[in-house]
Amino acid sequence: MCVYVIMDYTEAKHRIEELKAVLWENSRKYYVENAPTMSDYEYDQLMHELEALEAQYPEYATEDSPTRRVGSDLEEGSADSAGFAKVPHRYPMLSLANTYSIGEVEEFAQRAAKTLDTSFTYSCELKFDGTAICLTYRNGVLFRALTRGDGVVGDDVTRNALRIANIPEKLKGTGWPREFEIRGEILMPYESFDQLNHEREVNEEPLFANPRNAASGSLKLQDPEEVGRRGLMCTLYHIPTGQVDFPTHDDALKAAQSWGLPVSDERRICHNIEEIEAYIAHWDTARKELPYATDGIVIKINEMAYQQQLGYTAKSPRWAVAYKFKAEQACTPVLSIDYQVGRTGAVTPVANLEPVLLSGTMVKRATLVNEDQMRSLDLHEGDWVYVEKGGEIIPKITAVEPSKRAPGAVPPVFPANCPDCGTPLVKPEGEARWFCPNSAGCPTQIKGRILHFVSRKAMNVLCGEATVEQLYNLQLVRTPADLYTLREYQLLQLEGWKERSARRFLQSLADSRKVPFERVLFALGLRYVGETTARDLARHFGSIEALQAATREELLAVPEVGEVIADSVLAWFRSEENLREVERLKGAGLQFAIDSGKQQLSNALEGKTIVISGNFSISRDDMKALIEAHGGKNSSSVSGKTTYLLAGIKPGPEKVKKAQELGVEIIDEQEFREMIGAFVASAPQDDNITEPTLF
Ligand code: NAD
Repeated sequence: MCVYVIMDYTEAKHRIEELKAVLWENSRKYYVENAPTMSDYEYDQLMHELEALEAQYPEYATEDSPTRRVGSDLEEGSADSAGFAKVPHRYPMLSLANTYSIGEVEEFAQRAAKTLDTSFTYSCELKFDGTAICLTYRNGVLFRALTRGDGVVGDDVTRNALRIANIPEKLKGTGWPREFEIRGEILMPYESFDQLNHEREVNEEPLFANPRNAASGSLKLQDPEEVGRRGLMCTLYHIPTGQVDFPTHDDALKAAQSWGLPVSDERRICHNIEEIEAYIAHWDTARKELPYATDGIVIKINEMAYQQQLGYTAKSPRWAVAYKFKAEQACTPVLSIDYQVGRTGAVTPVANLEPVLLSGTMVKRATLVNEDQMRSLDLHEGDWVYVEKGGEIIPKITAVEPSKRAPGAVPPVFPANCPDCGTPLVKPEGEARWFCPNSAGCPTQIKGRILHFVSRKAMNVLCGEATVEQLYNLQLVRTPADLYTLREYQLLQLEGWKERSARRFLQSLADSRKVPFERVLFALGLRYVGETTARDLARHFGSIEALQAATREELLAVPEVGEVIADSVLAWFRSEENLREVERLKGAGLQFAIDSGKQQLSNALEGKTIVISGNFSISRDDMKALIEAHGGKNSSSVSGKTTYLLAGIKPGPEKVKKAQELGVEIIDEQEFREMIGAFVASAPQDDNITEPTLF
């Protein structure tokens, strides 16, 4: 237990208020924005201080205290602010009491032994560092996936969960209850995380701090196909009590595994504190070899009856505790500093480090963010620095080690000129970064813009960094519009290119003419206009002409568009060069307006092939158009590839029979409308089950 300074009542009240404010603010940054600015350890220390103060001064402990509530990942505002239906949990999804001390794990075991006063076992498990999920299976089919939300209500992310490779849509084996919930974690393995951040770096999008934030951000995407591409995985670790009849937690998980559900094999049944400590000691090192992040060990009482006997606090079960590992740190010298120019001209200092092993990966580089950050660290040339991966955060330099500083070492000088083209750098008002203003002539910026334009999420042209480099060096391309003037004979000048590669490239350029306006707008690379903002602007204004004509007030009226984005859009359209480029791209046949005839209403049916049969409340043609508008595909006959037979009044008996034979799910118009009406919150059945449970 930490010892806190004794305070008088006024001081205590003030400190409690202060701690509550800091914790709520950081909880929002962590859960809602997925961008924590404090390490988990610091956060947990503040939480423990608040717990201790509230215990000492109970008159100041309020119901809304973060010590009594689960951190919420629901966005504030309207019920559908995040675009997901809000669905109440049948059993609250709670948190876990946590500690960084083995001594406190021992205290937990002693408390349990005293209360239970009989022999029992512990299930020791990895504490997976992702985002919690609750899956409901009904009749052996995944019916719903909910996030933890605020513990009481979660976001319905079923469509996204269906895109996670190891979540089965249908169970196998026998013996599963007609309907049951199982809880676990959605994780992003390191490999997927590195790939995602690499792509984001190329696109100059903000990087995810760690796999946990990346997993939770990805699970909340509106595009299930993109979720599928993010390489997420699921691991399940708890079936709430009362739904299955097994004597132990371990038996329940073994059954879940036999039904094809992903359950980790790393858990162990321990009989005493020595075995628990050995398990912790083993995984403290062995976890570095795991392909995904873990941040501790969870120790649970294994017998279901004893779990019930021990019960819950408002925030966590009394029958489990999490032992958390401290963030790993390493001290290593800075070999040199690179100043990298991005496509928008921003210059970022990056430290090249003497390679050092940290949380399973070799760290060679770490960002120094900007000049102010270098100053506040008091960095000198050749300094030894502490690098941290707090909760597996991407390497961050947290401090320098002054005792290892070489005599006479001086602070590095931030360059006054662009390291690429030599143009004097500028620092616009309100910006923390330096910029190279030579956007039209700086080779790195030119190549960066082209690379962004062709990237997968923009125009998706078959063209990588090496091709852009060659096209630039051969003076064939200076702006994205030049790409559309390329001819086969010119492409054959590229090293290693044959007719086939040239034609494939030209074909992918031709295909890019069909890319919708919102992605074209993203491809143009306006500063601060990422994928989501481009989509919002395109949908709001409908065409590039309307966007160009928009006033500052009109731009600010778009949800999520603030002053920085509005000013960036206005500045972009003030440039003659940019306007010329838009005209050339229009001439090349790119989409600069929303195709209202084929307006996409949602992705609710993405990847689903639907056969319709019978009569509906609207014409059959309108029903088909509705399916397409929600991303689905129509098909005229039932086959193994059919996802649903949408049966109206008097459906064709042949089609129904075929669907039954092939096990194709048959849905009616009501169910179909529920599927596409993604914003309708629905309450779970059997509301009378109220026993609280964990996770
Ligand atoms: P938690 O992450 O400490 O523990 C509870 C969670 O662990 C469960 O909800 C579940 O999702 C997960 N879990 C993983 N493996 C599990 C297993 N085998 N069995 C059961 N559960 C398992 O608690 P939390 O409420 O999700 O988050 C609180 C923690 O988040 C804090 O203690 C802090 O470390 C961190 N946090 C950090 C900041 C920050 O600014 N850095 C802000 C808020 C919260």
